[in-house]
Amino acid sequence: MAFTLIVMIFAITNSRIAVDRVEALEKSVVTSSHVASIVAANLGEVFGRTSIYARLSTTFLEQPHDNAQPGNPLAIGDAAFLRMAIFDADGQLAYSSSRREVEPELQLFARTVLYAETPQWLVIGSNSVTDARAGWRIPVAVPLVSGQRRIGAFAGYIDLGYLLALYKEASLGTRSRIEIIDNRGLQLAEMVDGTVSAGIDLERTGYASFIGSPQLSGTIDAARPGDSGASIGVFRRLDHFPLVVTVTRDRAAVLDELTSRNTQSLIRATLISLLILMASAGLIVLAQRQRGLNAGLTASEARNRTLINQLEAEKVRAFQLASLDFLTNIPNRMKFYELAAIELSRARRSRRLTAVFFLDLDKFKVINDTHGHSVGDLLLQQVASRLRLSLRGHDLAARLGGDEFSVLVSDLDNDEAVAIVARKLVASLSEPYLDLDGHDLDITPSIGVALYPGDGEEIDTLLSRADRAMYLAKQSGRGCFRFYEASLNATSARSAELVTRFARALRDGEFCLHYQQRVACIDFRPVGLEALVRWQHPEHGLIFPGEFIELAEEHDCIVALGNHVIDMACAQVAHWQALGLALLPVAINISARQLRDETLPDILTACLKKYALPAALIEIEVTESCFIEQPALAEKVLRALNELGLRISLDDYGTGFSGLSHLKRLPISTVKIDRSFIRDIRNDNSDAVIVSSTISLSHNLGLKVVAEGVETRDQVVHLKTAGCDELQGYYFHRPAPAAEITALLRHPQAYAA
Ligand code: C2E
Ligand code: MG
Ligand code: MG
Repeated sequence: MAFTLIVMIFAITNSRIAVDRVEALEKSVVTSSHVASIVAANLGEVFGRTSIYARLSTTFLEQPHDNAQPGNPLAIGDAAFLRMAIFDADGQLAYSSSRREVEPELQLFARTVLYAETPQWLVIGSNSVTDARAGWRIPVAVPLVSGQRRIGAFAGYIDLGYLLALYKEASLGTRSRIEIIDNRGLQLAEMVDGTVSAGIDLERTGYASFIGSPQLSGTIDAARPGDSGASIGVFRRLDHFPLVVTVTRDRAAVLDELTSRNTQSLIRATLISLLILMASAGLIVLAQRQRGLNAGLTASEARNRTLINQLEAEKVRAFQLASLDFLTNIPNRMKFYELAAIELSRARRSRRLTAVFFLDLDKFKVINDTHGHSVGDLLLQQVASRLRLSLRGHDLAARLGGDEFSVLVSDLDNDEAVAIVARKLVASLSEPYLDLDGHDLDITPSIGVALYPGDGEEIDTLLSRADRAMYLAKQSGRGCFRFYEASLNATSARSAELVTRFARALRDGEFCLHYQQRVACIDFRPVGLEALVRWQHPEHGLIFPGEFIELAEEHDCIVALGNHVIDMACAQVAHWQALGLALLPVAINISARQLRDETLPDILTACLKKYALPAALIEIEVTESCFIEQPALAEKVLRALNELGLRISLDDYGTGFSGLSHLKRLPISTVKIDRSFIRDIRNDNSDAVIVSSTISLSHNLGLKVVAEGVETRDQVVHLKTAGCDELQGYYFHRPAPAAEITALLRHPQAYAA
């Protein structure tokens, strides 16, 4: 483009120069023709005057006269005529304006007209007649006629040099020439740059080709004899006299005048071109730099994408690795949850029953203790293979951990069909186990059954209810199965009592909070607290949330309890603030039901206002289960909480199956890895792989990672190596009442881990 621009600039400049040249030449021709017209008119007028002098001379001859007589009309003088003389019929001088006795040259010339065979009224001579020094003085002669008779002649010298000198000032420019040529091609006079000369014979030269032409005027564009270059100008023939006036200029001189202007134009064009070239070069350098930057960005984006893909793939592989139970090769707890959730969503569309069985081997611990772990392991492998054999291909059997197994059977018609499966399982697992490392064993299972959709819609609920039913089976003497009954919760007298007492307990302030610290992985410095609710029961003593949170959820008390917890936590932070202690942010656990309560953000806002606390001091912990029911509403409330400035952690990560990338769109800043993963961290086992890959994947998504339930030094070492950010667990601090935390905030160094 720059090249095209430069070519255009030079093309325009050159065409402009060409136009200028044509214009200059045209202008020179116009000026020349003006001057030529004026000179021709002037010359015509001067030559015309000869007829006036002829008339005066005739009168002079017809009257008696005396040569010396003053008053001769010619005596008045004429600057254009150098000398004037009158000759009589014999050719003798009758009068001379110079008062000479004789005028031999003029006399000779006068006689040519006097004795010419054909009468001529004016004869113009040439300078050859006169001396060469003033060749521009041209003799003229006119016969004087009276009646039919020639009575004499008038003769004189016309000073063409004088005439031309009048145009010295005519602004024709350098190397300009005005000349007067007669009709034989003889130059009578010329003026070149103000200097007058004469005498060149131009006849038969290309320059004077206009001599033979009948044209009155025209242009000359030819080289003059002796000149190296062509002339440019015009010729102009006199109307009544055989003379031609030319006004020309040296063509090169005309064009020379343009040279400096043209040079300037060329310099300007060159400068502009240079500027364009420099600008283009600058742009090219910039573009290359930009391209380099873009390439760098694309490459780093590609690298990031590859890294994320690798991490995702690693995670998938780790989950796959971790999805089978290493001992029995059937799905483990995690895989069971995943597959069961899929199965339940399918069951939602059919009207048939799905049953979840919770199996536990009776007195397995005793076998382990008496025969050793290797026998225990062989027994578990046998149990798993019998389970598989007793079930249909698409039924699901998994080992939950220890001697606990779960089974999911779908597409059942009624309770009886479920009971048949349960009976079959009890019978199959109760068969003797022969030759387990040389030992024959008898063992029975206890099985609890929960039905979908009657006993619950989520796998969590179903499994925990099947678990409760299993305890009932154990209580009923073992080696049998029991269905879950809705009344099971209430059948526990204690649970029933807790439920009835709930509202009053809230009113009487029986709930309190214990606080557990979170420490930074790097230096084990406390960085936060988690508020954990406790029920200080007047008869049963301190009750832990594991026993009453689910009850509260089932009996619609959780929102009231949750709000009470929020108030207690805020009041406590305000109290610490009032004591002037260095404050740590306090995390509050929020249950799924609370997160579906649209007033939750208002409640938190009001509470922060009531205790004049900044939002940064309160954090929120939610679990993946919060997003199972009405996920859009839960997400909306979560966003509102985030907008208040509250930081949000995802609690118990790994027990649900959302996957981190799925949770990416939620406003979550921290992931708390569930303690079941931390508990089993050992070198080279699948939990260690899961924890490490969860940490790197979370970091890649910009999330902070907290490990929960850290109990041993080995776990700390592994988590530190894996790059975990924060740790929480008994290894550092157990949950403690507020008073103990006050002491800790006062003297943090005394409590350093
Ligand atoms: P969470 O939020 O995951 O809390 C951590 C639980 O792990 C606490 O149990 C804590 O005492 C326990 N823990 C901490 N370090 C260790 C350790 O090293 N080893 C072991 N084995 N356990 C450790 P806690 O206080 O019994 O609370 C149990 C769950 O009850 C909490 O789990 C939370 O989900 C729920 N919860 C507690 N307080 C509230 C509350 O105010 N509201 C609601 N909705 N849920 C609550
Ligand atoms: Mg928590
Ligand atoms: Mg947790």
